[in-house]
Amino acid sequence: MPAEYCNVALPVPLRTAFTYAIPSTLRGEVQLGSRVVVPFRKKSLVGVVVEFVNTPPTETKIRDVAKVLDLIPALTPKLLQLGQWIASYYLAPVGEVFRAMLPPVTELTARRQIVLTEAGKALANDVKAGKFLSDFSPNETEVIETLRERKGVLTFSSYSKLRIELAFLRRLVKRGYVEVQESVEGRKRKVQTVIAWNGREPSPETKPLAEKEQRIRALLETELGALPLPQLLKLAGVSRAMIERMLRDGLLDSWEETIDPADDPFDVGYSAPAHSLNESQERAFGAVRTRFEFGEFGVQLLHGVTGSGKTEVYLRSVQDALAHGKTAIVLVPEIALTLWIGRQCRAWFGAQFEGVAVLHSALSDVERAREWWRVRNGQARVVVGTRSAVFAPLENLGLVIVDEEQENSFKQEETPRYHGRDVAIVRAKLENAVALLGSATPAMETYHNATSGKYELLTMASRVENRSLAMVEIVDLREEFQQTHQTSPISKKLHQGIAECLQSQTQALILINRRGYSWSVLCRSCGASAQCANCSISLTYHKSRNRLECHYCGYTQAVPKTCPKCDSKYVYFFGVGSEHLEERLRKEFPGARIGRLDRDTVRTKQQYQETLGAFAGGALDILVGTQMLAKGHDFRRVTLVGVISADSSLNLPDFRAAERTFQLLTQVAGRAGRGDLPGRVLIQTYNPEHYAIQDAVRQDYLSFYEKELHFRRMMAYPPFTSLANVIVRDTNLDYAIRWSRRLSEYFSQSDGKGVRVLGPASAPLARLKKEHRFQFVLKSPRRSVITKLLSGALAFCDVNGIPQTAVMVDMDPLTLM
Ligand code: ADP
Ligand code: ZN
Ligand code: ZN
Repeated sequence: MPAEYCNVALPVPLRTAFTYAIPSTLRGEVQLGSRVVVPFRKKSLVGVVVEFVNTPPTETKIRDVAKVLDLIPALTPKLLQLGQWIASYYLAPVGEVFRAMLPPVTELTARRQIVLTEAGKALANDVKAGKFLSDFSPNETEVIETLRERKGVLTFSSYSKLRIELAFLRRLVKRGYVEVQESVEGRKRKVQTVIAWNGREPSPETKPLAEKEQRIRALLETELGALPLPQLLKLAGVSRAMIERMLRDGLLDSWEETIDPADDPFDVGYSAPAHSLNESQERAFGAVRTRFEFGEFGVQLLHGVTGSGKTEVYLRSVQDALAHGKTAIVLVPEIALTLWIGRQCRAWFGAQFEGVAVLHSALSDVERAREWWRVRNGQARVVVGTRSAVFAPLENLGLVIVDEEQENSFKQEETPRYHGRDVAIVRAKLENAVALLGSATPAMETYHNATSGKYELLTMASRVENRSLAMVEIVDLREEFQQTHQTSPISKKLHQGIAECLQSQTQALILINRRGYSWSVLCRSCGASAQCANCSISLTYHKSRNRLECHYCGYTQAVPKTCPKCDSKYVYFFGVGSEHLEERLRKEFPGARIGRLDRDTVRTKQQYQETLGAFAGGALDILVGTQMLAKGHDFRRVTLVGVISADSSLNLPDFRAAERTFQLLTQVAGRAGRGDLPGRVLIQTYNPEHYAIQDAVRQDYLSFYEKELHFRRMMAYPPFTSLANVIVRDTNLDYAIRWSRRLSEYFSQSDGKGVRVLGPASAPLARLKKEHRFQFVLKSPRRSVITKLLSGALAFCDVNGIPQTAVMVDMDPLTLM
């Protein structure tokens, strides 16, 4: 007997699921993990069925499930479990967790259309013939007429323009004149021509193949397999006419194929490097393979210096997972990296680019939904993606790889505030899979777990082919200033380095960690600085847009000519950002070809590809950019990496400042000297003695780790304690203060119960997006104690009228700022 009620997780900021009745007509359709449409207050919402219940709660009126969206449930049982875990671990509203896990709901709008049935068509003809339909209302007649005019098909958006209530449509559907169809195809599906070698052996009387024909045969038959026409033309260097002739002669076959959204021009001419593994790669891969033989959960940390060939180990591991009949997820920290790793995976795991799905936030909703369902339907067995790809609905998961596991971008900085790496580990555990974390500079927590035996440690200590690590040098900006009495973002030494690069026709990467032109605007006369109207943050000057902008809330304002406070003319811009640096470089190196990569220059996937492609292809000499540059890329002709300032991250008032600085410097140093040319790195700083910088210069992870671990132990920070950051916030300052006080009273009852509660204090970002913010920091050697205290606190808020949205909980925060 199927259940009559179900609990549905809805995307609302409440920490419970809601009970709905399942009408008898839907009883067979509602499954665990199905997406359903339900009435909520005055709206319809899409939620996920998380549980069946037999006896509903009595105190409230139970409403009906309105519609079931999925034929097969969107979420697998394992993903449902994972979602519940996230909700309880991160104290996040369960419905918002599931919203983050689900594909975009495009079916509701983009894919549904209203069509006339056969009976409907007959009716439409009657209407046309002027017949009066007595048992149809004028509204219904109008729907039928409109459908006839539109050749029997109407989208929902055109329907809504008719301003006829849906009830009339529903009546027509019930009586069988009209149908609502769900078309599975996305809207803009492009096709391409694919060419393959025919495979027939040439008969003795046909003439032997010409040289170019041989080349085409080799490409299509042995090297790469069937190829899209443009790609073939480019690789073989032949004309379209020649291919057409060969098609006529029956040497080739062709067919039309829909273009995979994951497939893009970036792949043209790409064939994956096929290296045989060196000894340390072999050893690391051997350890992963052994895990598979055991077929049980385990976490492995692949600690390999930059350029040690970790990607190769990942790819073999994925291959091995596939060979065991399993599926795999590869998480990368940046959208740009999904392109690099994605195309390697496609090259490895299918000449037709089947079997690999790419998921990231720069895809349109329709693209993302399509990729998502390709995975859910079992058409893709490998998923490459950013953070949320950890929720990819693969079944039979064998391997989750987290590349550059230390990256902050794995942490979602909005509800649910989960960490992709940690969720990957929990998912691997639920699915009995292997989690493989890779990094040159593992997070403190991760390395600690690896040395304490919780994870298995795999080490690759040198670069492939015994290439040496880049030479890292410090440019002491204090000395520079004493010599030149100028502050230029580009020191003399860096200038020389770049000049040498240009001369030897190699490439330079310049890292700067602020975007915009100047990140501070100050009045020299009265000291006032330009602050955001909504946040306690200085505004950044963007020259190209000629605006001051807030990088936190998007607020913008005109650039002041005089000081708004004292009217003086001495408005001063300082703090060099990437836009300014680019301009500066153009002045200092007039002939150089310079590109810039930051969030202002690359907003789309195409722009990423263009800039990265241009640099990789040698069309640029210098690439300037923010953090985005530091990660993972394998540019072969880079001989110089310049870091404009190591201090901007080092000076942050945050317990991870040293760790982050060390990681960033080591990562970016790792971009130099990856080919046959030796690399050189110049780091500009005012703090040359700091251990984070010293150890980055030596690229000595262990030395840094030991010192930092000591500091963490002394200060009782992770990995020795668990942390939670709690922010109480409201646009009304009085409320924010009052609620912080109440919460403080609650926390004080728990004194001496194993959690230290610091605060309330004004948060480092005291105002953000118009909200005033107060902060508590909770510390305990045992995380479960924090969780318990906090769930108590949230319940306390409910009872005491403190809105749930006013209390933000961040478990295992990356930053306390
Ligand atoms: P990492 O991710 O560890 O920084 P990559 O995986 O990007 O390093 O590899 C660095 C470079 O070395 C790549 O160009 C890769 O093709 C190459 N490579 C990988 N393995 C080998 C090998 N066994 N022999 C030669 N080159 C290799
Ligand atoms: Zn002033
Ligand atoms: Zn702002």
